[in-house]
Amino acid sequence: MRKIRQLVVHTAAADIANVDVSEIDDWHRKRGWKGIGYHYVIIDDRHGSLPDGALQEGRPEEEVGAHVAGLNRFSIGVCCVGHGDRRDFTVKQKDTLTDLLAQLAQRYDVPVENIIGQREVNRLIDRGEVEEEFRTSKTCPGTLLDMGKIRRLVASKLGASQPAAMAPPKDLIDAMDVIAANERLLGNALGEWRCFFFSGEMRGLSRPKSFRNRGSRAE
Ligand SMILES: [Zn+2]
Repeated sequence: MRKIRQLVVHTAAADIANVDVSEIDDWHRKRGWKGIGYHYVIIDDRHGSLPDGALQEGRPEEEVGAHVAGLNRFSIGVCCVGHGDRRDFTVKQKDTLTDLLAQLAQRYDVPVENIIGQREVNRLIDRGEVEEEFRTSKTCPGTLLDMGKIRRLVASKLGASQPAAMAPPKDLIDAMDVIAANERLLGNALGEWRCFFFSGEMRGLSRPKSFRNRGSRAE
């Protein structure tokens, strides 16, 4: 499997109808490339036969793409049809985009902060991670697309696929309520109990109401 470090979002930058994989494939062949440079294309609401938000495969993921100079080797390129400077991508496009990015991030173990818009390659250059010669003046995937918001949506989709936090058994909750109600009588025992109860492992569990407020003081 090709090592993937970044997932890069693009716009087709064409404010016209019926743009899809075959159309973009034509454009890129005319540039002398071996075919479409993106790995995925997401259709908008102006296509004659494909629905809004439809996902099309371009260049196979295993092949290095042609979409972002300096990062092609270790990235996957996803193109949203439309023009991100002139018209926001559709709700369905963004939904397909964030679903796809979440799947790819999981499959290739790419951290959410490494999901970038093409223009954000400049941030990697600023940090010295990419050569200066690859600096871009492009606004791709478009000034109307908030990449921070896209990353937050992907993060929440990834979070939703994690197993839910385990709830403590009911009798433990009852026991904690009794202890909390008798706090005065327990002295040091309560301190020890708290060390356990507010440990990292326990903190992930939901707590009975009676302990919740005390938590901040004990930490
Ligand atoms: Zn681009």
